[in-house]
Amino acid sequence: MSLFANKVAVVTGGGRGIGQEIARALAAEGAKVAVVSRSAPSCGKAAEEINAIFPGSATAYAVDVADHAAVQELAKKIGDELGAVNILINNAGVTRDGLLMRMKEEDWDTVLDTNLKGAFNTVKAFMRPLMKAEDPRIINIASVIGLIGNAGQTNYSASKAGLIGFTKAVARELAGRSVTCNAVAPGFITTDMTEDLPQAVKDAVIAKIPLATFGEIKDIAATVVFLASPAARYITGQVIAVDGGMTM
Ligand code: NDP
Repeated sequence: MSLFANKVAVVTGGGRGIGQEIARALAAEGAKVAVVSRSAPSCGKAAEEINAIFPGSATAYAVDVADHAAVQELAKKIGDELGAVNILINNAGVTRDGLLMRMKEEDWDTVLDTNLKGAFNTVKAFMRPLMKAEDPRIINIASVIGLIGNAGQTNYSASKAGLIGFTKAVARELAGRSVTCNAVAPGFITTDMTEDLPQAVKDAVIAKIPLATFGEIKDIAATVVFLASPAARYITGQVIAVDGGMTM
């Protein structure tokens, strides 16, 4: 029997990269997956690609996770169309890099609103069905940059460190209802987000990774599948770094 038969999962930022692979991996294990991203063409295409392999498993929803009211409406729509949610994956994230000296207020706000407030919005919106669900899981995709910081990424580091604190507080608040909440902290993973880095920067990063290579989206998806599975029922409030040993 598939791990997630009869379960409903929501994956934000499911349109591309890590989120799309997480959505695909959950669908592969039998979940009905809501693929949420900012733009309709992006999540539509991702859902189509997943349905081509696992027919009827993915439904696209174009929503900005930073929009509190829109996320409330999304939760109602998903509840009506797919059923009560068991698994919530907060993966939507953006970068607006630059040295603090030159960082614009809007670069700070966009990153915090998407990466941190986005998770507040979705957890608020989905917590009631999750509290009644079987094997309820919240998994937040943070970053090693939230653990160790990075020059040029004060906004992103703050958002991901905040997401880790949020993860632990939610884990404590919802433990009484058996909802687990964990974070995965990817290191450098090959996606659109890292593709544009200059080769010199990539080489400098690889020099700091004991396993001496960037990770792949499947490395993150496999960790998420484990945390979402019944096997991980006794793990909550943890941050699992999937980073080739970079932050050990
Ligand atoms: P991508 O840039 O490839 O994809 C980001 C996804 O998030 C897209 O689907 C995008 O939507 C969606 N998104 C962005 N903003 C919003 C929003 N406001 N509302 C809804 N959806 C939104 O990112 P990655 O796959 O590389 O990263 C995924 C997550 O993993 C992020 O949280 C990132 O911070 C984290 N991470 C990534 C690492 C890496 O090396 N790649 C390392 C550490 C952490 P759309 O497609 O519609 O534009």
